[in-house]
Parts: sequence; C-alpha cells; structure tokens
Amino acid sequence: MAEFAVNDRSYRLASGPMAVVCVDGCEDAYLNVALEQGRMPQLAGILAGGWRGMARGALPSFTNVNNAAIVTGQPPVVTGLSGNFFLDPDTGEEVMMNSSDFLRCDTILAAAARAGHKVAMVTAKEKLRDLLSPGLFDEGVTGMAFSSEKAAEAKEATHGIGDVEALAGATPEIYSGDASVYVLRAGAALVEAGRADFLYLSLTDYIQHKFAPEEEGALEFYAALDEQLGRLADLGCRLGITADHGMNAKCHADGSPRVIYVEDELREQFGGGHNVICPITDPYVVHHGALGSYVTVHLAEGSDANEIAEWLRGLDGITEVLTKAEAAETLQLPADRIGDLIVMSAADTVVGRSPEYHDLSKLDRPLRSHGGRFEAMVPFIFSGPLNVEYEAKAADDPRNFDVFDFVCNGIDS
Ligand SMILES: [Zn+2]
Repeated sequence: MAEFAVNDRSYRLASGPMAVVCVDGCEDAYLNVALEQGRMPQLAGILAGGWRGMARGALPSFTNVNNAAIVTGQPPVVTGLSGNFFLDPDTGEEVMMNSSDFLRCDTILAAAARAGHKVAMVTAKEKLRDLLSPGLFDEGVTGMAFSSEKAAEAKEATHGIGDVEALAGATPEIYSGDASVYVLRAGAALVEAGRADFLYLSLTDYIQHKFAPEEEGALEFYAALDEQLGRLADLGCRLGITADHGMNAKCHADGSPRVIYVEDELREQFGGGHNVICPITDPYVVHHGALGSYVTVHLAEGSDANEIAEWLRGLDGITEVLTKAEAAETLQLPADRIGDLIVMSAADTVVGRSPEYHDLSKLDRPLRSHGGRFEAMVPFIFSGPLNVEYEAKAADDPRNFDVFDFVCNGIDS
C-alpha cells in the first residue's frame, strides 16, 4: 500500500479515493436532530457501517485555526495560525493571517500531491483556499485547489483546474447554504470523473450562525449535505467527517446578544492602554459582527498580568483567563501571535472590544457564534470501522486535526 510522510507522521493510502470533510460550525446537535428527523438517510447508512464519536478541536475554536490544524495534522503552535487576526509584535499593527505566508509547516495535502496522488482541496471561502494551498502547485506537483466563492475564476495555471462551473454548476452566493453544498458537489464530481482521489472539502458556517439545529433552515441544509455525502459514499470514497468548531446561541432570553466588552471593562477598572484583539474578525463578519467567545488582550505597559487576569475571572460570563505563557503551554498556541492574556467566555456569552467596534446592525437573527471552550468538541465520523489501534486512540482524547491520520491509518481496507 502506498505511503507518504509529513510533519513526523506517515499516512497509508487506501486503494480507492478518500475525502476529509470539514463541516464548518457543525455542533453535534445539528447531526443528532437531522438524523432523528430522518433528514440525513445517507449519513445514517454511512454510520451503520462506520464509526461515530467526538473529537476535541484546537482553541481558539475558529475556522482558520482549525482548518490549518486539520490540513497539517498539527496544533496551532506548529501551524502558526492563532486566529484570523493578530497584533504583529514587530510593527504593533493588527495583521490579518489570510495568506499562506503565515503557515509555518507543510500540509498533508501538498505531501500527498508530491507523492503522486490526485489531490483536490475545495473550500467555500476563497481566503481559506489561499491560506491552505501552498505546495499544491509547485514544480512537478499537480494539485487542485479552488473555492465555491470564486469557482468561475479558477484557472488551470493557478488552481490546477479551469472548468469548475462545467463540473459543479454556477458559482453560488457566499452568504448561502449552497456555498457549502457546492463544495461537496464539486468534490463528488471530481471523484466521479476520476480526477481526484485525495480530497479535503471544507464548508462554511453561514447556516449554523443563522439557525439552531431544530430550525427548518438548518434541517434543509443538512438534508442537502446528506445527498452529496451519499454520492461520495456511493462512489466508494472513504470518508472522514469532522468540524472546525461547534456553535452556540449567545444571547439573552429576549434574543439580544450577551456581550462582555473587555476593552471597555478594562479601561473602566484599570485605565486605558489595553488593546483587545478579536481574532474571529474576517472579511465575512455580517453574520456574527466579529463577536466570538475568545479574545486576546495586549496589556498596557507596566500592567500586572496576573492581577488583571484574576479580576477578569471574576466577571460573570468569563470562564477562563490564561496568561500568554499558560496559553502557549496548555492550548498549544504560538506565543508570538497571541496577546498577554487570552480570555474565553461561557457557552451563552461572547467577548468583544467595545460597542463601536462591532456592527450588529446586520444581525437579522439572535446571535450564534463560537471561539471558546464550549465550541471545541466536534463530531468525528468515519465511513468504516476503526481498527484496534485507532479505536484505542479514539477512546483517549482524539483531536479533530488528526482526522487525516484516522482516515488513512485507522481504517483497514
Ligand atoms: Zn468555522
């Protein structure tokens, strides 16, 4: 059986095609409700011959952090991705980590492509494609990477494919459920045409930010995903399905967002000069107003980090405050890309900077978001039974970013 190695781990390959699917924002409850209501018959069939459990994602429980971890098989301290934004210590500027220059290690996808596999990465968002595609188009490597957002713009020279719309249909609107369904449809079409056999399919959480698991908007979406998962399974594709993070309602009983504005709180208590970074911020903030359950704080010079951390811990709705050293150690975060403190909030609470920094005018539904400890546990699903070795690993503390390891090495064919 073919094998390749990357980042100190080797990956065995199945004889047929395989795909890892990252269902963005897939709190386990979405699957439970959809399965109970008979809206995911294909997934039910896959589970009958497969394996279902949970895995712990990387913190902060944000999209780019976890997608980078998944495609490398490594925690954030190795990937360098600590959020969508960080404060560059050299320049003092807030920098968006949306280019592959910020990725500090090789990807499993590039390694598989170098080993001669037909690798395809399909993401919903173009920014994620940019971030995770290094090495796929190197000299002598013939990988494919494109997004549903910019499907029409994919070109042979820069994306490894130039006929996405002919294959999967017209480019969908990015703020839609179809942006995600499109990713799976394109993946299935590539497998069907024999053009890809090692796939990473990463969706977007637009629907999960908008709808709770029992709402029809969510159920309809999961039914559409189910149809495409069934197609992949029918094509003989070995599947690993996980998520980058979960999703929780973050509001008061009346539906208004439950927010702690950390920069304002600190200014009031300790004076100015403290800088709060919300690393959930990205160009697609309409559906969450850049509010998540994790922020990092750069303290004013001369501050006592331990004293401020202790005070923050006393705020109602704050569940965890770690100093930089503690966060680097226990959360495996890159110390040079986080602030002096990291602050996480409760399942029903988000943390922000100050009200003027967050545009909540476009929120047309009660806020649902992620980023903290309560959105770190995600589904971990495989289309085949796990072998004895991986069954034991799964019973311990499996990580979502080991999903490629589990698909390649944990299922005997
Ligand atoms: Zn996400």
